Amino acid sequence: MNTFNAKNLKRIGVYTSGGDAPGMNAAIRAAVRMAIFKNIEVYGIFQGYQGMIDKQIKPLELGSMANVIQRGGTVLKSGRCKDFHMAEARALAAQNLKDAGIQALICIGGDGSFRGAKILWEEHQIPTMGVPGTIDNDINGSEYTIGFDTAVNTALEAIDKIRDTAASHDRLFIVEVMGRNTGYIAIEVGLAGGAEEVFFPEHPFDLQRVVNKVKKGMERGKKSSILVTAEGPTPGYAYEIAQKLKDEAGFSAKVCILGHIQRGGSPTALDRMVASRFSALAVEKLLQGHCNAMIGLQGTSYKMISFDEAVQKKPFSYEELLDLVNILSQ
Ligand code: ADP
Repeated sequence: MNTFNAKNLKRIGVYTSGGDAPGMNAAIRAAVRMAIFKNIEVYGIFQGYQGMIDKQIKPLELGSMANVIQRGGTVLKSGRCKDFHMAEARALAAQNLKDAGIQALICIGGDGSFRGAKILWEEHQIPTMGVPGTIDNDINGSEYTIGFDTAVNTALEAIDKIRDTAASHDRLFIVEVMGRNTGYIAIEVGLAGGAEEVFFPEHPFDLQRVVNKVKKGMERGKKSSILVTAEGPTPGYAYEIAQKLKDEAGFSAKVCILGHIQRGGSPTALDRMVASRFSALAVEKLLQGHCNAMIGLQGTSYKMISFDEAVQKKPFSYEELLDLVNILSQ
């Protein structure tokens, strides 16, 4: 966490970066309207770091944020920018921000985006306050990230539908949810969706476990089962599991990969509320001269967490939830 002289702060920039998440628009809206309320001008930087390099920078007014709170995606567009890993590109971005009179930034994104903001501070002293936005809920220092609840609910709706067909045809289904590096989405979807087993990078597929579970269920008359898996390093992991179940246990399983539908859709009340609170506080903290940090949720408190801490790996204690999944689906 650092401080800067915010006395003469007149204009800030806001951008969304990395993977998009439902609720980002509510976060942009809150940043813009809180800043204007505090007599600060706000410029939108489109396409994340690429827009900083390409000067895609435009003023935003109160009216620019009309009718966006309920929309998924991000009206500022998002994306990944390879060039930002190079010092020359970052120098150009910093110059463009200075030319546009932008003195500080609100970054809505994941840990990668915060790494970019951290380096922009270290090299060019451009102060940033972060707002954690990613469906994966994997940002250290915050129990919640914008988009997670919407993504889990989208996956749940799909599972409820799959359950209808699974039950009608006595089927074993493997549902693949998002989550490349961690299993937050999978474990919550598994528990709330009544799955028999859940797999994710920290707790990979175990053939014997599944065979035992399915057989035990069959003995008491259970005809259908749902397994939930996180996608892991490459989407399509569910097919690998299905193949193993067929080759090694003679089980025939249907696969459903939910994919990008989990990123879209109208944000839930929780995502809109947290997004609004994160961003409003981010603007306030910036105006107090704090930077190189993000806003996070710890218990019921909204707090500032340094980027140094935010970019560390978030510890994931899933054991208790996993036990519950197993007990409740026996
Ligand atoms: P997320 O913010 O969702 O984690 P990424 O990891 O893709 O998404 O990061 C978003 C962007 O942030 C990258 O495309 C890149 O432009 C920038 N970025 C990420 N890591 C760094 C870094 N170490 N140095 C500079 N820029 C970075």
